[in-house]
Amino acid sequence: PAPRQPVAALMERRRKVMGSRPYVFYDPPLHMVRGDGVWLHDAEGRRFLDCYNNVPILGHCHPRVADAIAAQVRILNTNTRYVGEQVLEYAERLGALTGGELTACAFVNSGSEANDIAWRMARAWTGNRGFLCQEFAYHGITEAIDAVSPSAARKAPMADHVRTLLAPDGYRGIHRHGTPDMGRLYADDADRAIRSLAEAGMKPAAVIVDSAFMTNGILEPCPGYVNELFAKVRAAGGLCIADEVQSGFGRMGAHFWGYQHHGATPDFVTIGKPAGNGHPVGVVLTRPEIFDHFLEQTAFFSTFGGNNVSCAAGLAVLDAIRDGDLMRNARETGALFKAGLKDLARRFPIIGDVRGTGLAFGVELVRDPATLNPAPQETDRLVNLLRDEGLLVGSEGVHGNIVKMRPPLVFGVAEVEIALGALERALLRL
Ligand code: PMP
Repeated sequence: PAPRQPVAALMERRRKVMGSRPYVFYDPPLHMVRGDGVWLHDAEGRRFLDCYNNVPILGHCHPRVADAIAAQVRILNTNTRYVGEQVLEYAERLGALTGGELTACAFVNSGSEANDIAWRMARAWTGNRGFLCQEFAYHGITEAIDAVSPSAARKAPMADHVRTLLAPDGYRGIHRHGTPDMGRLYADDADRAIRSLAEAGMKPAAVIVDSAFMTNGILEPCPGYVNELFAKVRAAGGLCIADEVQSGFGRMGAHFWGYQHHGATPDFVTIGKPAGNGHPVGVVLTRPEIFDHFLEQTAFFSTFGGNNVSCAAGLAVLDAIRDGDLMRNARETGALFKAGLKDLARRFPIIGDVRGTGLAFGVELVRDPATLNPAPQETDRLVNLLRDEGLLVGSEGVHGNIVKMRPPLVFGVAEVEIALGALERALLRL
C-alpha cells in the first residue's frame, strides 16, 4: 500500500476541501484506518476501545451485516418504485417491534430526513405549525429540524414557531431528585410553551423527544414525564415524535425502543444511526392513516430510501440483536459498567453524578459538589487523557462537562474492566 500521510498533512488537505473549520475529535485528530468489534485502529497501529460511537451497535464491521450488504449488492440494488420482499419484511418487523401500533414506514437515509418527514406529516395531519423540543436537543440538519436542534444552533435565535421545554434534569435542573412528582412538574413546562404558542396565534403540530436525552446530558427516564408531556401536546392538538436515533435498538436495555422506558406512546418513531450498523438507513414509522393523509398531499419518494442493500443491512441488524440477545447484554453489562462508574464517583470528588440506562452513560464533572459548578476544562482534559489511554469517549451537555459513553451493545465484562481501568488512571492524572 502507498505510505500514509501524516495527520497534519491530511488536515491541511481537508481544510481546503471540507471547510476551513474542521469539526474533528481530538487535537491532533485521529486517523482511523480499521474497525473491528469494539475496537478502532489508527494509522500508527494504536488500538482504541470505542465507548463513543453509537452507530455500530453490533460493533464495527460486523461480519453478518458486511456479508448481507456484500451479497445483496451483487444481486440487486434498486428502489421502492418496484415491488420487493426485503423492504416489506423490514417494514413489517419494525412495525411489529412497536407493538403493531406504528405499521406504516417511510424509508429515507438518515435520522435528519426521518425527523424532517415526521415533522411534515405532523403538520399535514394537524394543520398546526408550532414545534416543541427540549432546551438543548439535537435532531438533525435539515432547515426544519435544525430549528428544533438548539444544541447545534446555540448562537442563532430560535425560530418563531419553536418553543423549547425544560429538560427533566434531576441533578442540575429546577426540580431535583427526591422532589415528589418530579416528572409532572417538568411536564408542566409544556403548559407555558403551549400558551406562548397560542399567544403568537399557533398550536403545536408536534413535540419531538429523544428518549435518552442524550444532548441534554444522558438523563435517566423521569417517571411520568414523557407521557404527561405527550398528553398535554395531544390535548393541544399536536402529535408526538419519538426520535429513536440514539435511544432505539435496545441501547437502553429494558426495551427495544427508548420511549418504552417512559411508558409513552408516540405517533411517530424515527430511526437512523444504528439501524444499518453504519450503513445509511433512516425510517419514519407512524400510523397508516397519518402516512396516507401525507401521501394524498405530496408525492413522497426517496431514491435511496428502502433500497435493497439498506434493507439487507437493516434486517441483518435486527437478526443480530435478537440472536445475540444484545438487549440483555446492554442491561447486564450496562449495570456492571454503571456500578463501576459509581464506585469511581465515590473515590473521585470531581465526579458529581453518574447516570445512564442500558449502555449509555453520562458522567458529570463538577468543581464543587455543593454548588455544582461545572468543570468543562477538566472534562476536555479527561477526554484527551482517555484518548492517550486508548479509550474513546465524548463530552456533552449545555456546559460541556459531561463525559458521554455509548459503546456497542456487544461490550463485555472484559471491556468494562479495560474502560474502568483507563478512567481511573486518567482521573488520577487529571
Ligand atoms: N436525532 C438524534 C437524536 C441524533 O442524535 C441525530 C444525530 N446525531 C440525528 C437525529 C440526526 O441523524 P443524522 O445525522 O443521521 O441525520
